[in-house]
Amino acid sequence: LFLNSSFEDFAYQDKAFPIAAGQTISQPYTVARQTELLQVEEGDKVLEIGTGSGYQAAVLVEIGCKLYSIERQKELFDITKLKLQKLSYKLNMFFGDGYKGLSHHAPFKGIIVTAGAPYIPRPLVEQLAPGGRLVIPVGDDVQTMKVICKDETGKVTLEDHGTFRFVPMLGKKN
Ligand code: SAH
Repeated sequence: LFLNSSFEDFAYQDKAFPIAAGQTISQPYTVARQTELLQVEEGDKVLEIGTGSGYQAAVLVEIGCKLYSIERQKELFDITKLKLQKLSYKLNMFFGDGYKGLSHHAPFKGIIVTAGAPYIPRPLVEQLAPGGRLVIPVGDDVQTMKVICKDETGKVTLEDHGTFRFVPMLGKKN
C-alpha cells in the first residue's frame, strides 16, 4: 500500500525504497526503532515531520496516537493525503515547514522527525510537553538518532541511539 507499484515485489524487504518527489520510504527497521524510541501510547498527541509515503504515520495511528503530520513536498502531500483517506486513517495533515513545528497545536507528547536534520530545530524542543520525547536523526551524510527528553520541570536531556541514513530535511518550500 505504501510503495510505488513497481516496487511491490520488494515490499517486505527491510530496505528503503524510492517514493515520489525523489524521497524514500524509510526502511521498516528504522520505522520500528524510531517508533520504539518515541515511547508513545494510545491517546498521546504526536507530531511527525515528513509524512512521505504515510507509512510511519499509519503505524502511529494504529497505536492510537492523535497524529499531526507535516510534509513539505506538495506532490507527496497530495498523493499521501488521498491514500490515507482511502485507507480510513484519521490524522491531521499539513503542507508546510517542519522546522517550525505546529505551535497552534502544541504541546506534543512525542515529536518524530523522519528526514535528516542539520541541527535540532528549537521550535520542536519548545513544542514538547513535559514528559515528552523528540526523536530526530541529526547530521549531514550520516545521522545520529537523537532523543531529546523533557522532564516534568521542563529540563531537557539528550541521548544518542546509533547511526542511520535519511534523505535530508528540506529548507525551501517546493
Ligand atoms: N515518514 C516517511 C519518511 C519519508 S522521507 C515515510 O514513512 O514514508 C522524509 C520526508 O520528509 C520526505 O517526504 C520529505 O519531503 C519530507 N521533508 C523534508 N524536509 C521537510 C520539512 N522541512 N518539513 C516537512 N517535511 C519535510
